[in-house]
Amino acid sequence: MKWVYGLVDMQSFYASCEAASRPEFAWKRREDDDFTDPPLLVSGDPARRSGIILAATPAAKRSGVDNAMRLGEALQRCPEAIVVKPRMEFYLETSVRIRRMIEHLFPLHEPFSVDESFFAFPYPSHLFSDPIAAVRELKQTVWDLFRIRCRIGLGPNKWMAKMANKQAKKHPDRIVWWTEQDVPTQLHRLSVFDMWGLKRRAKILHEEFAARTIGDVAEIPESKLVDRFGVWGTIIHRWSRGEDDSQINPHSCEKPHKGISHRTTLPRDFYKREEIAVVILELLDEVCRRARSEGQKGRRVGLGLTYEGLQGGFYKAKTVDFYSDEANEWYPVLLQLLDRWWMGDGVRAVSVSLDLLQNTNALQLSLFNDAVKQNRLSRAVDDIRTKYGEISIMRAVSLGKAGQFKERSKKIGGHYM
Ligand SMILES: [Mg+2]
Repeated sequence: MKWVYGLVDMQSFYASCEAASRPEFAWKRREDDDFTDPPLLVSGDPARRSGIILAATPAAKRSGVDNAMRLGEALQRCPEAIVVKPRMEFYLETSVRIRRMIEHLFPLHEPFSVDESFFAFPYPSHLFSDPIAAVRELKQTVWDLFRIRCRIGLGPNKWMAKMANKQAKKHPDRIVWWTEQDVPTQLHRLSVFDMWGLKRRAKILHEEFAARTIGDVAEIPESKLVDRFGVWGTIIHRWSRGEDDSQINPHSCEKPHKGISHRTTLPRDFYKREEIAVVILELLDEVCRRARSEGQKGRRVGLGLTYEGLQGGFYKAKTVDFYSDEANEWYPVLLQLLDRWWMGDGVRAVSVSLDLLQNTNALQLSLFNDAVKQNRLSRAVDDIRTKYGEISIMRAVSLGKAGQFKERSKKIGGHYM
C-alpha cells in the first residue's frame, strides 16, 4: 500500500487565535482572505516599546512588521495595530483541540510543533479516494471550528510534505500536493536555501559546492557530501532527491520506556489500607516532584507492593488519557490499583512509578480542571523544600505512624546519611 504524507501548519498561530477570539472582527473575517483580519500584534510586554513581537496577523505583516521585531518599531510601521499580551494557556488549549480534530480525520498523525502536525493516509484507498478533497475538509474544519487558517503540503514522504507545505503559502488554495514526478520539475528548481532543516549547511553547500538550487545538490556525489558532512551527507543527498523514509511517530512528544520511580521498604509489615495509602501518597509526592523538576508529565502510573518477608507481591500500572505531574490527579488511580490487586497480605515494600513521559512544554493540557492553579501550589511546595529542607513542609498524614516521609528524608538513595 502507498501512503500520502501531509503537513498542516496554522497561519500566524498566536495572532490568529487572538483575532478569532475577538467578536468585533468575527463578522467580516473570511477564510479565503487574510486581510479581513485586524492588524494585530502579540507582544511579550505591550506596556514597553522594547517588547518583542511574538506573532502578527498578515494584515500587520503587510505593513512591514515581522516576528521578533521590537514593538516600538512595529508600531511605527503599523500604528493602527491592536497590541495584546500573549495568552499561552489559551493558545495551547486551542492547539490541543485542533490536534484532536486532526486525529479524528487522520488517525495516523504526529504533533510536530504547537501549530504543525504531520499525518499520513493510505492512497489509493476507499477511505481516501481524493487526497486533495480529504485535506480540504481538514482545512475547512479548522476554519469552521476555530476560525484559524491553515496551509497543507502533501507528498510521498514527510520531507516532501514539509517542502510542499512551504510552497502552499503562495498557492491561492493553500494546498499543494507533490508526488515523485514533482521532484525534477518542482523540488529541484527551488533554492538550496529553501531546503528545510539544513541551517548553516545550506550556506556550505552554496559556498563550497557552488550549489544554487536543490537540483544542483542532487548532482553532487553522495561520497563528497559524506566527506564534508558525515552522516548528514547521506540525509542531504536523499532529501535533494525527494527521498525520506522517516515515519510518522504518534508519540513524538513522549519519551517511551523512561520513567520516574521511588520505592521504600517499611520498618514492619503494614496490614491496614489507610497505612499503605499514606506510604503510596508519600512516594507519589516524591515522584511528582521529580517529574515537575524535570519538566515532565506522565500518562501512566504504576504501583508495586512487596509482601512480608519480601516474598511475592505485584506490580500493576494504569494508563490514562491525560498527562499529569500532580499527585492529586494520580492518587485516586493508585488507590484503585491498590483496591483491585491487594488482597490484604502484609506489605513490606512499596513502589510508585510514573512513565510515558512528555515534556511539559509539549503542550498537553488537562483542559477541564484547575490544573494551572494546582501546579502553582505544587511548585511553591517544591521551592520551600529545596530552600528549607525536605521536612520543612509535609502532608499532615505523614506525621501519623504510617508516614515514612520523615525517615526517608534522612536517607540518600534509601540509606541513612
Ligand atoms: Mg504556523
